Amino acid sequence: MSEWKKTSCVLCFSNCGLEVTTEGSKILKVRADKDNPRSHGYICRKGANIAYFQNNPERLKYPLKKVGGRFERISWKQVLDEIAAKLKEIVERHGPRSVAYMGGGGQGCHFEAAFGVRFLHGLGSKNHYSPLAQELTGYFWVQGKAFGRQYLHPVPDIAGSNFMVFWGANPMVSHDIPQAPVVLRNKKKEAGFKLAVVDPRVSETAKLADIHLRLKPGTDALLLKAMIKILLTEEGLLDKEYLTGKVNGFEEIKDWFDDVNIEDNCRVCGLEPGQVREFARLLATRKSAWRSDLGILMGRHSTLNSYLELILLALAGRIGVTGGNVFAGHLMPMGSHTPEEDPKTWRTVATNIPLIMGVFPPNVMPEEIDNDHPQRIRAVIVSGSNPLRSYADTNAYERAFAKLDLLVTVEVAMTETAVLSHYVLPARTGYEKWDGTFFQWMYPEYYFDMRPPVAEPEGEPVEEAQIYVELAERLGMIPDYPPELREKAKDRVSYGAALMKLVQANPKAAPWLPFILAKTLGEELGSKNLSALWGLLARFPMMHPEDVTRAGYKPGPLTGEEIFNKIVKTPGGVKIGVVDTESNLNALKTPDKRIHIRFPEMESWVKEVTPASEEAALVNKNFPMILMAGNHMEMVANSIMRDPAWNEGRRYCTMRIHPEDAGKLGIADKDLALIETEAGSATVEAEVTESSHKGQVVIPHGFGLVHGGKAHGVNVNRLAPAQNRDRFAATPLHRYIPCRVRKA
Ligand code: SF4
Repeated sequence: MSEWKKTSCVLCFSNCGLEVTTEGSKILKVRADKDNPRSHGYICRKGANIAYFQNNPERLKYPLKKVGGRFERISWKQVLDEIAAKLKEIVERHGPRSVAYMGGGGQGCHFEAAFGVRFLHGLGSKNHYSPLAQELTGYFWVQGKAFGRQYLHPVPDIAGSNFMVFWGANPMVSHDIPQAPVVLRNKKKEAGFKLAVVDPRVSETAKLADIHLRLKPGTDALLLKAMIKILLTEEGLLDKEYLTGKVNGFEEIKDWFDDVNIEDNCRVCGLEPGQVREFARLLATRKSAWRSDLGILMGRHSTLNSYLELILLALAGRIGVTGGNVFAGHLMPMGSHTPEEDPKTWRTVATNIPLIMGVFPPNVMPEEIDNDHPQRIRAVIVSGSNPLRSYADTNAYERAFAKLDLLVTVEVAMTETAVLSHYVLPARTGYEKWDGTFFQWMYPEYYFDMRPPVAEPEGEPVEEAQIYVELAERLGMIPDYPPELREKAKDRVSYGAALMKLVQANPKAAPWLPFILAKTLGEELGSKNLSALWGLLARFPMMHPEDVTRAGYKPGPLTGEEIFNKIVKTPGGVKIGVVDTESNLNALKTPDKRIHIRFPEMESWVKEVTPASEEAALVNKNFPMILMAGNHMEMVANSIMRDPAWNEGRRYCTMRIHPEDAGKLGIADKDLALIETEAGSATVEAEVTESSHKGQVVIPHGFGLVHGGKAHGVNVNRLAPAQNRDRFAATPLHRYIPCRVRKA
């Protein structure tokens, strides 16, 4: 058994610091890292059980090829030769749009995307399908219009706030804010602090709230409009100075809300107007910060909800101010800015959805495969992702994937998607390689944590980067570089100078630097991911000199090297920057450095959401109840924890139903219930609880995983119709799936 080693949790974006002991490939013991500068000794039940992820008996060890319906072990050389040849043939025959990459590294390992996306672009394709677009791209589109870049999004400055709003968010369990249980309980002790929750459910966070607006499922847009109207009409609630100095478009949009009747909107939402007015008054007059999550993002009117949220926060003057929602720092943005008006921005060929932040929504992939378009998708590389359980409409995915000419899955364990693949390539887990995430999103100080390997890989799994570099080599994507560059990598100062010379002499080599770094410095360091980090840090101090200075460094040609050395020697994370708290709105990238709130293309959508239209839309005779498909619980870790043993003895996958509904349907607690939607049906144990709203049932995500030859729990995505999605960004509306329920 080893000594305690520092690492971090790969199960959610908080990436809390852990300490583990290991033996070979196994994690033996886990505890919180009290010295971690980001998580300060906090972990939740999931992180404490990380050994169930690492020690999965169904780990993949060798490359596999499907032959006659069964997998056979083959060599790395053979598998990469065959995949490269098939990709070449598909692109030559059908064009680059016929290839897609579905990856991004999930919650703990983002470096694979640096190589996977570059490889995709090398094939001439921009078909990157990402989990970010499962929930966030409508929101990113709004941020891009408002702030000038889709990757700019403000986070709540909780420390500086005295009124904290969580809308459709349950941070006590989902950790929308890091260490939420500790942070919120401490905030509750501050004199005068108030916590407000908007959620149809009595969530764990709602139980702590001073104000809980328990709106009817699906009525968020109506409620947001009512609040905007309150700010527009009631004395002293608009931040006029802020609107004049910082906002563009206010005068043009204010009459869009002339017809809003606050009482009517509240009635359809099932709320008391007085309570809504009180909420709006507190929001407008206090140091209010705001965090919304899937209740908004995956609710009815997803993109519209994000737009109305932007308007409300702008009217209250809460963006870019202390105690409000502020722009955090980052080593690298989570994606690129791809405005749909740019002719270079691709759209999907069958569903006509634009790239937003450089990614397409997984929700439309089955339709992009299963069609007659000459450029339909024929080859998919899935990396660290399990669309057969994680994305809407499993039936549609199964039908579509069966039509692919090539499906390659890069994974740590045999998944439902891997089972359908032509080739399965074993990857190292986040504990067997150098890796990290770009979820800095901290304010004002921000950190970077590059986890060193703490466990030994068993068999032949590799860093994902190696797969893409070797495929790129076979396909001739990597430009020539001087052979002495490999030798120079022993001295990174002269290596950096040689690399710069190379790019100056051949600017076309610049996009391929991740591969050149991997082939030279990556070999020297024993990790291609580390070479990519070094490349990022070489530029970071020049791009953010003020943040770096505030963090205590002297920006200069060797500062990147200094930070790199510090990060490599400091598992748990190193402070790399401190953002400007005085003039936080300097982060804006709009030409006039103002927040833009008039989006002409949204005017009709804003106006069409009325009490009458919504009352009609909320009634569905065939499917009279609403399924909330997927919710965070301490027993849910997406589909990463495949071994169900970590939840043994718990009711981990039930359908939660309100007692009144259960009574009407003759369903008792622990009875089996049949739930049906347009997409499919499932039989599931009922849990009768007042936490669900009347008319709503709730089933968690992340189950239905096959382990030990048996499925555990219900795969809620088999109940989620692909067509039940946002009209603009195609985000699946998992928080609002019409369904019917009866006793099984
Ligand atoms: S799952 Fe828990 S321990 Fe892991 S990062 Fe998230 S909050 Fe931290």
